[in-house]
Amino acid sequence: MQSEVLEGVSAVDRMLDRLSRPLLPGVLRIQQGIVRATHEFMFKKGLTQVMPLMLSPITDPLNHGVVDASIAYADTRWSLTKSMIFHKQLALMHPELESIYIMSPNVRLEFADRAETGRHLFEFTQIDFEFKNKDRFFVMEFMEDLVNFVFARLNAELPELLLELRGELLPLYEKWPVYRTEKLEAALGPDYEMLQSKLSDTPFWLLNHKREFYDKEDQLKPGTYFNYDLVWPLGFGEGLSGAERENEYKQILKRMTETGTNKEIFKDYLEVAKQGKLPRTAGAGFGVERMTRFICKINDIDDVTVFPRKPGHASIF
Ligand code: ASP
Ligand code: MG
Repeated sequence: MQSEVLEGVSAVDRMLDRLSRPLLPGVLRIQQGIVRATHEFMFKKGLTQVMPLMLSPITDPLNHGVVDASIAYADTRWSLTKSMIFHKQLALMHPELESIYIMSPNVRLEFADRAETGRHLFEFTQIDFEFKNKDRFFVMEFMEDLVNFVFARLNAELPELLLELRGELLPLYEKWPVYRTEKLEAALGPDYEMLQSKLSDTPFWLLNHKREFYDKEDQLKPGTYFNYDLVWPLGFGEGLSGAERENEYKQILKRMTETGTNKEIFKDYLEVAKQGKLPRTAGAGFGVERMTRFICKINDIDDVTVFPRKPGHASIF
């Protein structure tokens, strides 16, 4: 879909070319179908929608470095939100909210080394959901059901478009295979996630990533975590991350120390935890553009978006 970059063609001309990519309207209609079906699924399952926030004094520390994206306003340092993880936990303190979801823009100013992975944008949309008093098994099954619901809906609503973009209708899956990072790494080496994605023709779960302090640690096996990634097959790679959450003050402090998290920034969040008010929750978030990319079999995720958002690259709009 990408137009050729020709010598002497101005940035404006290249942009106009990009805005006229022939497949774009169809890709956007598929993406709209994903969002429409997801809202319906969430409603049927009883999740309450919460609106996103773009600025917060605390946001997801992420498990890898990105360029800082924060601004000063009203005597506060506000970060552009990288995910809604903490707001999901805090919103669920309400005694009458059992489960919520948020469709949110996330800004993660990735370095240029992620420009050509095919699946990174420095600004994208995540559908982030969280349940009170549920565990990882519940969330994983919920996501498997969501994918089948969305895929069946797209097959019914947009069959011609699917045939045009991907050559066939979408498959519906039985239970997804489950792997553990340490075992897959031992079998396939350091690039295990992508290798297994290329070897697979169904989505699969990858358990136990070393990640942020908020993913719950297994108390029976310290150093392992109750988290999970959905990995899309056929080389499309990661599509969702989630976990059971740490909600106990002492354990959060320990995990913050281990992960080198700045406790001063999180002091008010820590105060809530210290008061024992953080509920026990589990959840996850999936990338909308990544699901669109997988469904439409698009190599470069930058071809899912109208405007370019390639890590480390300038854009005029
Ligand atoms: N939203 C994810 C979660 O719920 C974290 C992420 O954005 O990577 O764990
Ligand atoms: Mg992730």
